[in-house]
Parts: sequence; structure tokens; C-alpha cells
Amino acid sequence: MAKVRIYQLAKELGMENKELMELLDTMGVEYKSHASTLDEETAAAVKEIVAEQKGLEEKKKAEEARAALPKRPPVVTIMGHVDHGKTTLLDYLRHSRIAEREAGGITQHVGAFTVETPQGKIVFIDTPGHEAFTTIRERGARVADIAVIVIAADDGIMPQTKEAIAHAKAAGVPMIFAINKIDLPRADVDKVMQDLMKEGFVPEAYGGDAIVVPISAKTGENVDELLDMILLVAEMEDLRADPEAEPRGVILESKRDKQAGVLVTLLVQEGTFRVGDYLVAGDVWGKIRAMIDPDGKQVKEAPPGTAVQVLGFRDLPEAGTAVEWVPDEVAAKHIAEERQEERKAREQEEAERRKVKSMADLL
Ligand code: GDP
Ligand code: MG
Repeated sequence: MAKVRIYQLAKELGMENKELMELLDTMGVEYKSHASTLDEETAAAVKEIVAEQKGLEEKKKAEEARAALPKRPPVVTIMGHVDHGKTTLLDYLRHSRIAEREAGGITQHVGAFTVETPQGKIVFIDTPGHEAFTTIRERGARVADIAVIVIAADDGIMPQTKEAIAHAKAAGVPMIFAINKIDLPRADVDKVMQDLMKEGFVPEAYGGDAIVVPISAKTGENVDELLDMILLVAEMEDLRADPEAEPRGVILESKRDKQAGVLVTLLVQEGTFRVGDYLVAGDVWGKIRAMIDPDGKQVKEAPPGTAVQVLGFRDLPEAGTAVEWVPDEVAAKHIAEERQEERKAREQEEAERRKVKSMADLL
């Protein structure tokens, strides 16, 4: 780039001459009028500054747009050592649901359920915490927004507790520690707090910022407090989703039912899935024939933060697979077939590699 006059550069950058001259003033560049020439170096510096400003403006706009989106409920996974009370806590939460009490207690197991509190909804995933977590982490997306780590007050931190903590940490998911079984006479909450400190988590009660809630999943004591803490963390995470965006979600569970065929639980993360929509999960495609919510009700629409059972997948997609919306059957088939071929090619390559390796081992 050779020398350029101010008005030429302004035109190139889509700016008013005055605007560019003001920028030059702040840069300490001297000129006589908008017909003055700028050297190559100055012109390059101007371009760089303008590009940077544009980037900042766009970022700010994107942030503003996000802040205007509606909030969505947090998705929570419960993790912890075996027998520390994960299932008991999930059962307690499931049975404390207002909707269920009103409906008379007929619920479907769909891998997730929603608890309604006066302060808002919370979605609990009740698929094995670890599994859901790892598969999804490998795919670079996250399902859970918050992890509740259950630690039995009569047992303390155990190997699987540490594993759960490591998983949550690796996924960058905030943790809440629920010290469970406080109804037991041998419960020792202080000892668990000490254990947590050894792991580098200083409870709020000790002046740190680790959120710890002593509960009894059996009697329900303090479970409300746990829900409050979940909503507090969710508030800080500022979880939002666009119900109008292109729908996107993740498979929580999939199974084959003798009568209904392939039954898939889908957690909606963005946009709204509707009956009749086409979707692709990995190399499996489908058309939504029906959707059933965790209360067993048929629904026509599933907005962000809902888990629904979907009828209409052609095959069993793997749990943890991302679900995409596609415009029509041609696109759905095309994408699924493309991925099937990719997978076959990968498998073949892998088999070849193994063969070569075993031959090399023989030599
Ligand atoms: P999980 O392996 O983490 O799913 O643990 P479970 O929920 O199956 O609980 C293991 C055992 O601990 C069961 O016998 C439960 O009844 C018992 N349990 C769970 N939570 C509590 C609790 O808060 N208090 C008492 N006393 N027992 C509990
Ligand atoms: Mg269990």
C-alpha cells in the first residue's frame, strides 16, 4: 500500500472525513486538510485501530443481545461416591414436585425432571452423573450447569467423591457440596468440612467460598436450602437461552421400547423443538412424531431447559450426543448418511492400523 489521502482512507473504511481526522488527532498525527497524504505506516495503524474498535462494538452488541434473552432453568447433575445418597436425594426431589402431587404421581422415567420452586425451576438430570458428564465433555459441550456433590456425613470424602470433583472441575462446572445423612447419630459434618479443606475447598462457614449444605435426603431436612443455593449459583451463572434460535440439544437417554420403538430423551438447550421437526443426532436422524414431558403429558413444543421423550428417531442415538435441528428430510438423511460413511471410514482405518501393528509385532 502506497501513500493515501485522508479522504480516500476514510472512504475505504466507511468513515466520515471528520471522524477519521478526530482519530488522527488522538493519534497525534499532523495534517493540513482531508486532502493530506498519510504514509503507509500511519494508514496501517489507523486500519488496525478501526478494526479493533469495530470488534469491541460487535462484542458489546453481542453481550447486550444475550442480556436481553430470557433466562432458562439451571440443569443440575448429582454426583458422589456410591451409597452416599444420590438416588435417595433424586427420589426425594422427584416426589417433592408440586406438579406430580397434583397429577397423582404418574411419572415417566425420562432421565430428567423439573422441580418447581417459588424462585424458579430447576432441571435435575438423573442419568448416572459421571456418564452424562464424560461423554458430553468429550464432545466439547456441557449438559450440566451445576454439579451437586453428595458426601455422606458418616463416611466423608471417598475415591468416587474425588473423581466427581475432578469431572466437575474439568468441565468448568460450579459445585455445591451436599453433606448428606445428617439425621444419623454418627454423622460428623465437621469432619467432612475438614476433608473438603484438604481438597482445597474452604467452606463459607470457615470464611471460604465453597458452598456447603448439610442435608438429609431421607428426611428432607435442609433440602430447600440446597435448592436455594442451586438457584443462587444459577443466578450468578446468568443462564440464558433463545427460544427463537435454531434448536439444539443433547441426548440424555435412548432405548428401544417394544411398543413405541426408539424412545429418546432430549434435553433442549437452545431454541424450541416442535412436533414435525426433523433432527439429527450424530449419524442418526429422525422426525419428531410426538413429545412427552416428564409428567407423561404430550407436548407440541419443547423450549430451552425442558427434557422431553421424543418418538421418531430412526435408530438409537448415543447418550451425550448433540442434537441438531435440520430443515427437512433430505437434509436429515444426507447428514446422517455422510456421518455414517465417515464413521465407517474411520473404523476401517483403525482396523488397518491394528492389522499393520500386529504384523509389525510379529516381525
Ligand atoms: P447412591 O449409591 O449414592 O445412589 O446412594 P443411595 O441413595 O442408594 O443410598 C444408599 C443408602 O443410604 C440407602 O440405604 C439409603 O436409604 C441411605 N441414605 C441415603 N440418604 C440418607 C440420609 O439422608 N439419611 C439416612 N439415614 N440414610 C440415607
Ligand atoms: Mg444410586
